[in-house]
Amino acid sequence: MYSAIETRFAEALKTSSLSFTPGREIRRQYKGVNVIFTLAAGLQKKPSCGSQAGNAGSPRSKSPWVNPDPNLLVEQNDRYMIMLNKFAVTKYHFLLVTKVFEPQESPLSESDWGAALDVLCQANAESGRRHIGFFNCGPASGASVAHKHIQFMTLPEDFVPFPDSTASEDKDVYANENVPFAHYIQSLPVQANAEQAAMVYSNLLGHTLTLLARHELPLSYNIVFTEQWMMITPRSAESYEGISINALGTTGLLLAKSEKDLALLEKEGFEIIKKLGLPYEPVMVRFMPDHTGYTRY
Ligand code: AMP
Repeated sequence: MYSAIETRFAEALKTSSLSFTPGREIRRQYKGVNVIFTLAAGLQKKPSCGSQAGNAGSPRSKSPWVNPDPNLLVEQNDRYMIMLNKFAVTKYHFLLVTKVFEPQESPLSESDWGAALDVLCQANAESGRRHIGFFNCGPASGASVAHKHIQFMTLPEDFVPFPDSTASEDKDVYANENVPFAHYIQSLPVQANAEQAAMVYSNLLGHTLTLLARHELPLSYNIVFTEQWMMITPRSAESYEGISINALGTTGLLLAKSEKDLALLEKEGFEIIKKLGLPYEPVMVRFMPDHTGYTRY
């Protein structure tokens, strides 16, 4: 799979089927949490958030993947396609897309998790580099396309995302108190299968729904996952002063489209996501009623 991604990427670049804008990196730490700001001015060409998911025309008719560009299609089976990102900031940024249109706002199914983990493990094993998967869901999540897709990217060299040191071997959900926004992290079992990943997802989603409901907010969230863990961040707003943040931002990979945005991001650091999500709070134990009373789960 990965060699097909590399070949297709080189060909698509030659035929201008995709644009690749490598950015200038600035590395910082906020309370021990690693953050990379990437200034990628070429991103100004990219469709803005919600633009391919908005009201004019049905989301299906606006999807770039109902009739996918063959120059960006890497491979497919009867349920999913692997597509290259048309507006890449990192080399080989690719997406797992449902073959038949499904709304991005629908939850990830066990089959989606099976396909996503397969792709992630293959990418890691075949490239020798660590990848991250991410999914933006809901109007405040920073998603721009309404057709269900999960994205994959190589993690920058020597970048340790904070969930690496926060996730724990046992089954509980964790949050890092040095991160100013509400988030939930859970470790994945070694070589997790689709069912195990779907269970972790539904557990994290439960925490997210509870928190958003308490704040009377509609469902919007970001998911980031590696082979080791999954993290979910509830969202309350899509952008701050014109800067849109998606799932990547929640791991500390923040993109700026201009020097002005970069200056604002540097000033705000991770605090910007508190404004676009909800303030940090320790993970609450949730209870589920059963016939004997209440059981922790
Ligand atoms: P999101 O913004 O989270 O919905 O993710 C959509 C991704 O698809 C973004 O990274 C876009 O750069 C990418 N994208 C947008 N239009 C196309 C297209 N026509 N072909 C391939 N990728 C696209």
